[in-house]
Amino acid sequence: MSLEKVCIIGSGNWGSAVAKLIGTNTQRHGNLFESSVRQWVFEEKVNGENLTDIINREHENIKYLQGIKLPENIVAVPSVVDACKDATLVVFVVPHQFVRGVCEQMKGHLAPNARAISLIKGLEITSSGTRLFSEEIERILNVPCAALSGANIADEVAKEKFCESTIGCPNVQDGELFYRLFDTDYFRINVIQDHVGVQLCGALKNVVAGKNIMTLYPPPQTQPLPLSLSLFLLVGAGFTDGLGYGSNTKAAIIRRGLMEMRKFGQMFFGDMVQTETFFESCGAADLITTCSGGRNRKVAEAFVTTGKPIDVLEKELLNGQKLQGTLSAAEVHEFLSARNMTAEFPLFNTVYRIVFENAPVECIVRDI
Ligand code: NAD
Ligand code: 13P
Repeated sequence: MSLEKVCIIGSGNWGSAVAKLIGTNTQRHGNLFESSVRQWVFEEKVNGENLTDIINREHENIKYLQGIKLPENIVAVPSVVDACKDATLVVFVVPHQFVRGVCEQMKGHLAPNARAISLIKGLEITSSGTRLFSEEIERILNVPCAALSGANIADEVAKEKFCESTIGCPNVQDGELFYRLFDTDYFRINVIQDHVGVQLCGALKNVVAGKNIMTLYPPPQTQPLPLSLSLFLLVGAGFTDGLGYGSNTKAAIIRRGLMEMRKFGQMFFGDMVQTETFFESCGAADLITTCSGGRNRKVAEAFVTTGKPIDVLEKELLNGQKLQGTLSAAEVHEFLSARNMTAEFPLFNTVYRIVFENAPVECIVRDI
């Protein structure tokens, strides 16, 4: 049996934490995987030097995951074509707004039997409906695509603090292979077949809207861009933190948010999503951790305490990491209002009014 050739597409905060897991496991399971793993790194200068050169010399992504050593079999590659050439297992972990552009460049360069897995928390909403990123990857690259999502704040995973994650993979054999690629004693994987539900849970943080965001991310990304729906929720949680409210309030926001996420899934995906999936790590657990410690929550809290705009805070607080959906409130509001459905999602609607219509932050508890 020939060994699987793994490549990682992406090298941000989560991409780097995942490189540590994958680099360890390809060495551990030498009967399944080639040890050397190419990682596509979006090239940039850090302290006057190419980030790829720093990673390959120091074995550390000093910009996106400082202080964590990567296994030496992870090789940073600045060209996405070189990184993915002849790969049989492709791990997608880029911010959602870059997926389509990156896939277009990869066309025709993968091995014929390649399979992919998407770690992207996002969902496209087009004028005609919704699309998962696994579908987008399958459509452009003509490879089957599974999904991994969970309560996985990257810095904590990288420090080997115990957590769980969910892989959704319709093909049982491939699910077993992806299990071997990711599972460790501190990162415990459960494999299920509902890859739609796994993505939808993570995606209810990241929903595409379309045209307005184009002004923020101009060409070459000339496609509809994904946004964060659960930003609503996380912003809600960040607001209550900023207001100095306690755990009970945040729990109420999380509960209301989970209900709106489930309702969104039922309305736009119907029977394709299994209710049990919301009880996996990718569901309620991800919601809880992100509302406690995520970047969206942090920026939303600062929005209340400093009064600065969210895009300014993203730059000030995140050092190049991307908030998954700065304009999501506007875009998802547009999506729902086009269908006369805003009243059915009171939490989402209230956050929209606070961010874009100067409604008082206290509405987050009064109006939901
Ligand atoms: P990030 O926000 O930390 O980093 C941004 C990345 O985008 C960097 O690698 C940067 O080089 C790259 N980039 C900037 N401009 C680009 C361009 N024009 N084209 C392509 N790439 C460009 O990224 P991340 O945290 O690794 O997030 C990737 C995905 O993983 C997202 O969907 C996110 O929701 C998901 N995720 C993140 C975490 C987390 O804790 N960070 C956890 C689970 C899932
Ligand atoms: P943030 O993007 O808000 O940091 O969320 C990270 C995450 O997805 C944790 O599971």
